[in-house]
This record gives sequence, structure tokens and C-alpha cells, in this order.
Amino acid sequence: MKVIHTIHEMQQWAMAAHKVQKVIGLVPTMGFLHEGHMSLIDTAKNNGATAVVVSIFVNPIQFGPNEDYDSYPRDFEHDRKMCEERGVDVIFAPEVKEMFPEPLTCHVGETCISQNLCGKTRPIHFQGVTTIVAKLFLAALPNLAVFGRKDAQQAAIIRRMVRDLNFPITIVTSPIVREASGLAMSSRNKYLSEDEHDRALSISRALSAAREKFRNQANVSKAELVNDIRRNIEKAGGVVDYVELTDSDTMLPVPELNRNGSFTIAVAAKFGTTRLIDNIQL
Ligand code: AMP
Repeated sequence: MKVIHTIHEMQQWAMAAHKVQKVIGLVPTMGFLHEGHMSLIDTAKNNGATAVVVSIFVNPIQFGPNEDYDSYPRDFEHDRKMCEERGVDVIFAPEVKEMFPEPLTCHVGETCISQNLCGKTRPIHFQGVTTIVAKLFLAALPNLAVFGRKDAQQAAIIRRMVRDLNFPITIVTSPIVREASGLAMSSRNKYLSEDEHDRALSISRALSAAREKFRNQANVSKAELVNDIRRNIEKAGGVVDYVELTDSDTMLPVPELNRNGSFTIAVAAKFGTTRLIDNIQL
């Protein structure tokens, strides 16, 4: 496994790989890797990647001024070992100065999907995401890129970016990996105290209960499911940012349930100072 730190070397490697007909699969991450990230590597291979590049970059421009950029957990040696064991070909781990030698005056922005859900509370977040993902695409030159359904809104925005800007890259989404407890795996789970962790299980439990209700009650309404989830999370001491019913493909909010569409309920809630997101496809 190779570790590459510069954009130039990454592009050279990718062009050489294309010359020998490799199918490059990119897995963008912010590191502090866990089994959720590892599953994306497997998904890349299962979707035809014959060379997997994992990028590890804590992207400063997707964090707001009062967010956790400085305290975001980092452990490169641990990440390196995990990637090596999972059969990754390249880790692309640029320094901030390599990606942003000067403050950017050009950005990539999505102006529809990004205005909802997390975009309301984190106004600059998605522009930071689309910009860094575009830069990573132009560094690693992948044929396909894998994003987790854990960040379903992010995946929908990237699909829209690729469609609108004609990136010749297939976007693959991969299912949410959960702890045995049900909590969606996240690098940020490290911030949770034991008590917060236990109370945060209310998120996945409330989402599963909502899905059960949708499946068992023909006429259940959006309001009923959303209110149930909100109540259960608040009962466990969580501070709800949003609970929203969305179209599973676009992640845009929808006004009401029906039996024809594919719906996803997305949640963001804080336990202590830790903001967690999760979602479930009904
Ligand atoms: P992050 O390092 O948190 O920015 O995540 C990098 C990628 O891993 C994103 O595409 C996430 O959606 C994905 N990811 C993070 N956690 C999970 C999880 N529990 N299950 C599946 N994918 C995940």
C-alpha cells in the first residue's frame, strides 16, 4: 500500500493506473476510520474497483467557526493499519497546505438539496463538502466513488454535483454500518460519555420504531412518525435539530407519506455537545 501526500503524485499514480486499465474506486474520508468506512472499501471492490484509494483529510472548509475542526479525532497510524489490512492500494493524505495553499476564491456549490436538513444548521458545510470532493476527484481521477448512506444528504448532493457538472464518475452509496447497540458508527461517537452513548441509542431505536409503524399501519401520517421520533429522542435528553421525512433519492423533504414512493426519515440531534445524524429508509 502506498501513502501519497501530494496532488501531483496522486494524479501521476492515477494516470498510470488508468493506462493499465485499472478501475479506480475512491473512498473519501476524514479519517479516524471505523467499520463504517471499511465497508465502503468493500463496496468499492464489489462495484468493480480494481484499485482502491482512500483519502484521509479533515477538511477545514466544511466546519463552521464554532464547530469541532480542531478537536476532530485523528489517528493516522491506526487508519494506515486498517487500510492495509483491508487491501487498500493507496491512502491519499494531503496536508491542509497542499489542498489549500491559498484561501480559495473558487468553490463548488449545490443550491437546492443543500438548503435543507443539515444545511440549515450548518450553512457553509455542504459548499465545503462539494468543493473538497471535487478537488479529491480531480486528484484521484476515480472511475467510481463510494459514499455512506449514513450521510444520505451528502451522498444526494454529490450525485447532483456529478450529474450537473458532468464528472465521469459513478457514485455508489453504501448502507449504514451500526454498532451492535444500533448506534450508527461515527468518528464523532468518541466524544460521547458512556451515559450519552446509552441515551443516544434513542435515535436508532426511534427510527426503527417509526419504520415498524409505517409497515404495520396503512394510514400512518408523516406528522405522527416525526412527532414519535422527536418525543423519544427528547425523552432520552437529546436536543433535536431536525426530524424530516424525505425522498430517499434526492433527500428533499416531502409533505406527506404515500405507499408508492421511497421515503427516508433523517434525524440530527445533540447529546451533550455531540451532534449525531442518522436516517432510515422506510
Ligand atoms: P467521514 O469520515 O465521517 O467524513 O465519513 C466518510 C465516509 O464514510 C462518508 O461517505 C460517510 O457517509 C461514510 N460513513 C461514515 N460512517 C458510516 C457508517 N456508520 N456506515 C456507512 N458509512 C459511513
